[in-house]
Amino acid sequence: MPDLITHMAFSHLIIRVYELLKKQMHFSPFRTLFYIGVILPDILTRPGYILFSGTYDWTVALHTPMGAMMVCCILSFLFEKAIRKRAFLYLTFGALSHFILDALQKQLIYNNYWFFPFSWKSVGWGIAGAGTILEWIPVWLIVILIFEITVWMGRKRKKSLSE
Ligand SMILES: [Zn+2]
Repeated sequence: MPDLITHMAFSHLIIRVYELLKKQMHFSPFRTLFYIGVILPDILTRPGYILFSGTYDWTVALHTPMGAMMVCCILSFLFEKAIRKRAFLYLTFGALSHFILDALQKQLIYNNYWFFPFSWKSVGWGIAGAGTILEWIPVWLIVILIFEITVWMGRKRKKSLSE
């Protein structure tokens, strides 16, 4: 599982491109739910098995698409009925982006149980090791900076043309 900075950077680009395609110009609070969904699988499991190593087998189900979706479903009930479905979808798609990125990393412990509870087969493509992924953090941050500056300049130009 990649670090949370890499997870956030990867998912930030996904949600920002999605917002641009939807021509959504202002910050949406639903983006925050997407970010929460992104970190949710690790937040639910890592503290438990780091502090109490014997709990891994008990928490690993929460680091699966089915487990995360169930938690997203429960969390979505914190929201009013009118926005509950949308809250659930943003949380869930955030969590799913987490699992996609996890599957790209070479695993020391195979724990991408995408088909839980039907199978314990671990899914993964093992493209990059954990060390390599960490080395790429500055690149991700520069890409995000360039992306955001480009979007900002595009909006500023559009605004000045319309005046
Ligand atoms: Zn993870």
